[in-house]
Amino acid sequence: MSHFETDAIRLNASKSNQREHSAPLYLTSSFTFDSAEEARAMFAEEIPGNIYSRYANPNSTELIEKVCAAEGTEDGIATASGMAAMFGSMAALLQQGDHILASRSLFGSTHQLLTRVFPKWGIISTYGDISDYKNWDKLIQANTKMLFIETPSNPGLEIIDLEWAGQFAAAHNLILVVDNCFATPYLQQPAKWGAHIVTHSATKFIDGQGRVLGGLILGKKELIQEVQFFSRHTGPSISPFNAWILAKSMETLAVRMDRHCANALAVAEYFQDSADLDFVKYPFLKSHPQYDLAKKQMKLGGGIITLTLKGGIARAQRFIDQLQMISVTANLGDSRSIITHPASTTHSKLSEEERAKVGISDGLIRLSVGLEHQEDIIKDVERALEKSR
Ligand SMILES: *Cc1c(COP(=O)(O)O)cnc(C)c1O
Repeated sequence: MSHFETDAIRLNASKSNQREHSAPLYLTSSFTFDSAEEARAMFAEEIPGNIYSRYANPNSTELIEKVCAAEGTEDGIATASGMAAMFGSMAALLQQGDHILASRSLFGSTHQLLTRVFPKWGIISTYGDISDYKNWDKLIQANTKMLFIETPSNPGLEIIDLEWAGQFAAAHNLILVVDNCFATPYLQQPAKWGAHIVTHSATKFIDGQGRVLGGLILGKKELIQEVQFFSRHTGPSISPFNAWILAKSMETLAVRMDRHCANALAVAEYFQDSADLDFVKYPFLKSHPQYDLAKKQMKLGGGIITLTLKGGIARAQRFIDQLQMISVTANLGDSRSIITHPASTTHSKLSEEERAKVGISDGLIRLSVGLEHQEDIIKDVERALEKSR
């Protein structure tokens, strides 16, 4: 409708009769009807209106409208967490006997969904390597229904060509689902390239301050209707409070992402030639293997960089223990810079070979660059690198 920033701020829940300026928090499980006939008509979906907060609530509706405007998608649902969104997008749209083709580098819990949860119900999946796009045709089966990808990937920062993915999905009649968590709708809009469904962990940059969990499933109306049916009757709904926080957070997403990205680029550039590191990976550094692609489909490089320390797991752990400011915690996309060591934590259950396949070496550190002054972030990393030698 308007520009990104304007929609994110001005698409608000309609005013109550209190004439409030900022949307209030609708902490209510249900909504009243003026008459038995109105109740009947709303349940029959003949007239619109809120019925029960498992279905919809003004706070979740505001959040959905804002993110839909940002993504260029028609409709959506908000969920209690990012994983509820990943699960819901697949569970609502697939059935027993269907096959999912997915990019290999996926968020850890999404990998568990595909390999441990869905096979229980006869939905199986195959991974494709992004270095091998040309051969993905061979991975298609007669029952392949969905292409699920994550770009940039967590934590490997692999970039998948969204234009290619859109064309590939169209050619094979697949539902293209893109986990757009790392880029946020400010940096990348997969629907523009043909994604049918866009999913988010709103817990990360959309919240931006490490407070609440939330997720989103957005996309074409006819698919979202299936997702809404699934959500109404299985109950992954977001709480009104979390939706209220996240709808407010959308108002500052653009300015926050500009700063996250500027800080991340500055940190990445500062350390790119460091003798302590084998590699610094950031989508908008020329040394990124898919730099041109990142430039093509992303507005800026995002808030995450990876540093590969010389000296493997032991060095990485010494480095983490020497940090004075940067937090050691599992979240990302916070105003506070955060470091994680995937090989010893999130991806410790994978073998070294499996980790290598998804680009996670023993010395790899994921740095979620926050909104502190960039000189202070650089100073903390530099000091810890020196002290951990
Ligand atoms: C964190 C994350 C998720 C899961 O989101 P939660 O809100 O933690 O459930 C899914 N995908 C990616 C890429 C993530 O970073």
